[in-house]
Amino acid sequence: MTGKGLFVLSPDPTMTDSTMPIQAWRELLGAATFCNFEPDELLYQQDAVRDSLWLVRGGTVELYRSFFGERHRLGYVSRGALLGEGELFAPHLRTCTARAVTRVRACEIDGQVARRFLRRFPALALYFLRATTHRSRDIEESLVEQLVQRNLEIQMHSSRSDPHIRRRVKDLEQTNEHLNQLAWVDALTGCGNRRALEKVLEMACETPDSFAVALFDVDHFKHYNDNNGHLEGDRALQTLARLLQRRLRANDVLARYGGEEFCLVLRDVSGPVASVVCERLRCAITEFAFPFEAQQPLGDFTVSMGLAMYPAEARTPTQLLKLSDERLYEAKRQGRNRLVGGDYAGL
Ligand code: GH3
Ligand code: MG
Ligand code: MG
Repeated sequence: MTGKGLFVLSPDPTMTDSTMPIQAWRELLGAATFCNFEPDELLYQQDAVRDSLWLVRGGTVELYRSFFGERHRLGYVSRGALLGEGELFAPHLRTCTARAVTRVRACEIDGQVARRFLRRFPALALYFLRATTHRSRDIEESLVEQLVQRNLEIQMHSSRSDPHIRRRVKDLEQTNEHLNQLAWVDALTGCGNRRALEKVLEMACETPDSFAVALFDVDHFKHYNDNNGHLEGDRALQTLARLLQRRLRANDVLARYGGEEFCLVLRDVSGPVASVVCERLRCAITEFAFPFEAQQPLGDFTVSMGLAMYPAEARTPTQLLKLSDERLYEAKRQGRNRLVGGDYAGL
């Protein structure tokens, strides 16, 4: 049986016995045969040829239609409901099965007799027509609802069970993940790329919370590449990024600005704290034993840093990058392996 939504086809409340010509009802019921049905007994079956009208006097009746061996519930009717009244106007096989759900009291009126009454009491015909119209509208709504529900179930089932679709979904998820990586992550070092940095700065500049931007650049990296080969140079950049990532707080961001130049964004720090953090990082790089570093011009693998503070010194991403770049250049000029812009005692 399909269709989980149970609904009751209640008789139209305006169609009470009192609105009917009382005499018509009395005569009609006088000609009726009263029957009792136990739960699960059938009042009549789909496709039966019997020409009669049913009036439910008590209990609940389920109406269902069978298609290709499957039962489709049309709804439930109870006291006061008429069944088979449509066939009085256009003789037809029973369009559905009526099954007693509870104990049911009902009466059956022969079709010929009922039609005679209709001719005598046209108001009765009007009442029957209204009953048919109401019920067929309810049945139509119920069937549409069941169809929609069924379609959803089929769609969900096929997308879950079809291995081809499952594989496609997995592929798409992986591709999306990959594209996301390409869009925001630097392929060599795994830290943020320039686009990510710009986004981080843009968002950070929208709040009043202070943060630090430290631009830093490997000293004499051309020399390192020339001496040890480009591959070793790549490896050194990866090591440098890992070394810093390990020392950062979750809120801080490390991005590759380009080439051997990186940028740090330290969140929620004052100027003096930022300069202490940058100094510590610079020392960590100096202390770390990079391969072949002894052959570097300074005898070590080092970086120079330029620091700028938001909002005390600069208020936009462009201003912050410009100021830290000027200070980085100044650090290079002063001899490298140092931080410029850390004198924040007055800030
Ligand atoms: P300075 O101390 O003034 O910064 O000198 P430097 O040699 O580091 O600066 P320069 O700009 O002359 O050279 C930077 C070098 O970094 C040149 C370039 O080939 C190298 N480089 C840039 N990106 C990469 C990379 O992804 N991998 C490797 N191995 N080398 C890179
Ligand atoms: Mg450079
Ligand atoms: Mg350099």
